Amino acid sequence: MEKRVYNFSPGPAVMPVAALQEAQRDLLALPGTGISILEISHRSKAFEKIINSAEANLRTLLAIPNNYRVLFLQGGALLQFGMAPMNLLRGTGKSADYIVNGTWSKKAHDEAKTQGAVHVAWDGKPGNFNRVPKQSELSLDPNAAYVYFTSNETIQGVQYTKEPEAGNVPLVCDASSDILSRPVPIEKYGLLFACAQKNVGPAGVTVVIIRDDLVARSPADLPSLLNYKLLAEAKSLLNTPPTFAIYMVKLVTDWLINEIGGLQKMAELNRRKAKLLYDVIDGSGGFYQGHAEPADRSVMNVPFRLANPAHDEPFVKQAADRGLVELKGHRSVGGCRASIYNAMPIEGVQLLADFMREFGQKNK
Ligand code: PMP
Repeated sequence: MEKRVYNFSPGPAVMPVAALQEAQRDLLALPGTGISILEISHRSKAFEKIINSAEANLRTLLAIPNNYRVLFLQGGALLQFGMAPMNLLRGTGKSADYIVNGTWSKKAHDEAKTQGAVHVAWDGKPGNFNRVPKQSELSLDPNAAYVYFTSNETIQGVQYTKEPEAGNVPLVCDASSDILSRPVPIEKYGLLFACAQKNVGPAGVTVVIIRDDLVARSPADLPSLLNYKLLAEAKSLLNTPPTFAIYMVKLVTDWLINEIGGLQKMAELNRRKAKLLYDVIDGSGGFYQGHAEPADRSVMNVPFRLANPAHDEPFVKQAADRGLVELKGHRSVGGCRASIYNAMPIEGVQLLADFMREFGQKNK
């Protein structure tokens, strides 16, 4: 069998080996059915059990209150950039407040503009998106349809430690790159969505957690697959859902519950992993330079530059020679980026930290 390496990709990303092994073991025939998960009807009892378990696991991990629906949708997080305003903004006569603190929130803002009036509540572009705003910097409309933010900006590596306060206005969050990395108070949110391919499962499914009163807002003239209300009523089974991806969500969340021991434990482990890398960056005397301001640094994505850009290529190549792959940074920030999602073992991060120190010393 091909040897596994440490994959620092921003997504699709590393998955828990235990989940992959279970899928491999049961791929030909799910226990009790004799049919592969790839072959099974989405209307079968066996699949109903799988999707219900995936939802129950998410409810347990995130302590999702009963007045929230959990949906498994397609179209990635990008479709949610359009669906959120389509369902919650269109026809309200209000505008939506967007906190723009990185590439993904900017993209969400631009998509929302196609559906209604959008107001920028804060723009981090002048600082090259290297931090999140303070509450006092936000210009919020108390009558807004919702306030939108991105809890973790995957490209810039900035992460909120606490939700922005939106008062009585519903908070809408893109949590694609940090969902399940730590506990969050779901009751503070109106809508939280996340594509799966970083912390939840494989590409192909998007988790949407939405409060009942917002589900009720969906305009009746939307196509059914874009309508939260109809999707919630059909329990995500309006049409054929991504069955395999949902199955993997169940296995990944099983792993979080049974092997990790929940989100508090996961958060502690994630903080330890991130510290290993930030300590190297901070102790490198400028050889490595982080992108985000220390207080807002992401625990999931660690972008950094090498002071001498000529070192970028040998760094990425020599790391790959050691089985540390996908470290090239996003083209808009440059340099390197290590994405260290839940499933990245601390051993992989330790190896990367050791390599960074060694490379820094050799190339001073
Ligand atoms: N939001 C964030 C924070 C992301 O990191 C990404 C993907 N990298 C997206 C949205 C877009 O996700 P998708 O490709 O599933 O549409």
